[in-house]
Amino acid sequence: MHSFHYRNGQLCCEGVPLQSLADQYGSPLYVYSAATVRDHFVRLDASLSGVDHLICYATKANSNLAILNLLAKLGSGFDIVSAGELYRVKQAGGDPGKCTFAGVGKTRAEIEFALAEGIYCFNAESEAEVRFISEIAADLGVTAPVALRVNPNVDAHTHKYISTGKSENKFGIDFALIREAYQRAASLPHVRIRGLQMHIGSQLTSVQPFLEAVEKVAPLAADLKRDYGIDFWSIGGGIGIVYQQSLESGRPDWWTAPETGVPPLTIEAYATSLLPTLRAIGLRILLEPGRFLVGNAGVLLTRVVYEKRGTAKTFKIVDAGMNDLIRPALYQGHHEVVPLLEPTPGAPLETVDVVGPVCESGDFFAQDRAVPPLAAGDCLALMSSGAYGFVMASNYNSRPLPAEVLVDGSEAHLVRRRQDFSDLIAGEMIPA
Ligand SMILES: *Cc1c(COP(=O)(O)O)cnc(C)c1O
Repeated sequence: MHSFHYRNGQLCCEGVPLQSLADQYGSPLYVYSAATVRDHFVRLDASLSGVDHLICYATKANSNLAILNLLAKLGSGFDIVSAGELYRVKQAGGDPGKCTFAGVGKTRAEIEFALAEGIYCFNAESEAEVRFISEIAADLGVTAPVALRVNPNVDAHTHKYISTGKSENKFGIDFALIREAYQRAASLPHVRIRGLQMHIGSQLTSVQPFLEAVEKVAPLAADLKRDYGIDFWSIGGGIGIVYQQSLESGRPDWWTAPETGVPPLTIEAYATSLLPTLRAIGLRILLEPGRFLVGNAGVLLTRVVYEKRGTAKTFKIVDAGMNDLIRPALYQGHHEVVPLLEPTPGAPLETVDVVGPVCESGDFFAQDRAVPPLAAGDCLALMSSGAYGFVMASNYNSRPLPAEVLVDGSEAHLVRRRQDFSDLIAGEMIPA
């Protein structure tokens, strides 16, 4: 589900009209729905109730403290990819003992910090990394819990920049080499083999690649349980969400979208098809969803500053830029453009480009898109911006980072203030 609907002519997040937030906090502005995040977490958790499991939210998708705190209160663990994310999880009240640490390039300082905090497990991506973790653990006089990430060489059928489970990707250890890698890792004195991990990619819209990977890796998981007594098998994240919605439906509902022709991957279908294989292994199952939990829970509000009609195109120039939301430029990501004030029924659509103010031709949110009438001064929502949105924002073009608001029922909480000019130069120095 998601919680963005027109009510009395206003696009609302739960009980709060978004226009009132744009007026109060300015634009561009990220707005998140607490109810949506809770609903997605609870549904995913329930769908796995037939098996011992732990959801480790992929912190990198949206690491605002308020979002992390909300998930920590629901009992979520966290998948982190840096020491900075572990620091955030702690600050938000999360439990380091429920944290897994992923990533191909963990540094000594990061490994030391994670060992000191007592994380659940390192998900190591190379043999060199396992040896390094063992050395550092030896220096500190501790034993490090380690899982190896296997690269199952399965095609996730997603954008090439977010595909991670093929042999040519930098992630994990080749399926053909993984057993020897476990043997050598198990012989290291300061390593305890605790689990097995995989993650084949992001924004998967069919259960087929997940099923293929799980079935391919299941015999390995069973053998590792027998040979090394591992506790868990993490099957990664990657559950896709619906970004695209035909405008004719009037009341966009990103979860049921039958008219897109591509049935969205439902969490129920995901769980039903994977559970029999997972249950048979008898290991604790870890999941690392990022986008699924927060993607449809967030929008980026922006205001039309100018309209420009050229000979080839009409541009709606808005006050958000690629520095605020880079998904269209980076991944050809699609975000629905929805006016905050409900268009009059039957108002003709206009084919336009929605572009930002940044000095790059890649700075666009929609190209040749049929949208309802939008005049200068009107606000619109770029839908489904809750994942890989704010976290990838930068100060490029010396643009202060936008504010973030969390809506819970009829209340709106500012969860990050907008940056001001002094933030732009904080930490910089001119040599004397
Ligand atoms: C990014 C990432 C995830 C989350 O991916 P989503 O598509 O957001 O669910 C999970 N695990 C690892 C190791 C990742 O790098």
